[in-house]
Amino acid sequence: MLSLKDLDFKGKRVFLRVDFNVPLDEEGNIRDDTRIKAALPTLNYLLEQNSKIIIASHLGRPKGKYNPKLSLKPVAKRLSELISKEVILAPNVFGDEVDRLKKELKKNQVLLLENLRFHAEETDNDPDFARKLAYEIDYYVNDAFGACHRSHASVVAITQYVKISAAGFLVKKEVDYLSKAIHSPQKPYIAILGGAKVSDKIPVIENLLNKADDILIGGAMAYTFFRAQGYDVGHSLVEEDKKDLALKVFETAKEKQINFHLPSDYIVAPEAAPDAKAQTLDSFPIPSDLMALDIGPKTVEKYTEIITKAKTIFWNGPMGVFEIEKFSQGTKKIAIAIANTEALSIIGGGDSVAAVYKAGISEKISFISTGGGASLEFIANETLPGIEALTEK
Ligand code: ADP
Ligand code: MG
Repeated sequence: MLSLKDLDFKGKRVFLRVDFNVPLDEEGNIRDDTRIKAALPTLNYLLEQNSKIIIASHLGRPKGKYNPKLSLKPVAKRLSELISKEVILAPNVFGDEVDRLKKELKKNQVLLLENLRFHAEETDNDPDFARKLAYEIDYYVNDAFGACHRSHASVVAITQYVKISAAGFLVKKEVDYLSKAIHSPQKPYIAILGGAKVSDKIPVIENLLNKADDILIGGAMAYTFFRAQGYDVGHSLVEEDKKDLALKVFETAKEKQINFHLPSDYIVAPEAAPDAKAQTLDSFPIPSDLMALDIGPKTVEKYTEIITKAKTIFWNGPMGVFEIEKFSQGTKKIAIAIANTEALSIIGGGDSVAAVYKAGISEKISFISTGGGASLEFIANETLPGIEALTEK
């Protein structure tokens, strides 16, 4: 995989795929520009190198149709402020007018294409569409790690129509760090998994069963594992149709002699609400009118003890409903336990990352992935379509 420093960009027309899929409010204002800022090191480098930069991104889910509410116009404005430079917004992603803008682009100028997903061909990974994107382009640079798990035209097919493709700084950093958790991690390697659904995480768990020494389970998914063993878990969130998969995970863990840990106590309440009356239980059954919403203090203590010995830690998925104060303690304390180690710590997943910031310990984490779904899929499959596309060339 080529990276930016391997290439001479001077005067080249560069197609820079970024993830500017920022959250917008009702009026179309950007609520959080983290994703735009994440691409700035690459963009500023390309500017320093005197290239002609054509930026492309998706935004929201316009489902293949033009939608003025999902125009990249507010992004163009914010980006222009951040780089103190004019950002020309193209009316589309291809066509005569766009081709003209591309051709007339001068060194050090920035052209932002409209939302890629105004065209269904983008998500279809359509070769003809990719060819149009690649028109007049010398180099392709992918800095959209958050989109690398998608086989989309601007991520995958386009690399067939550009002579040279490379990873931007963000993609390279993500791949470098996440690879450390995949290839020969320092032991003990502790994986912590939580969140809402087992089904989202089964491929990750399966891969970690080949790598980790201990797997610590929290979040709602723990209760599918308990349910699979026949315990009564009240009305905790359970995926009944995933019980077989859960049993298989137990079996594999035993076979491979992986320590697979489930919570030993739980904070339960009638519902996930701020005013719900919470109590701690350390045995089953959980009464039918209650649900488990966080891990309890004994679990926190045991997990902390294991985390303290780790040399490598991968964490995805909150331990409880961390959005509500009284069910956030488990997640917070696990975050602090991770922060207190000297281990290489890697955290991925949208909510997990939010939880880490909420706990105020983000600075003590070795690497916080911007990838969400992409980082999980990378840990599960050890590669991503967008990374493969960069590697093939
Ligand atoms: P990530 O975005 O980090 O991958 P997920 O999206 O898988 O994480 O899971 C996060 C969600 O899981 C949060 O909204 C949280 O409230 C929820 N959650 C965690 N534990 C429980 C639980 N015991 N019951 C219900 N929901 C839970
Ligand atoms: Mg999530």
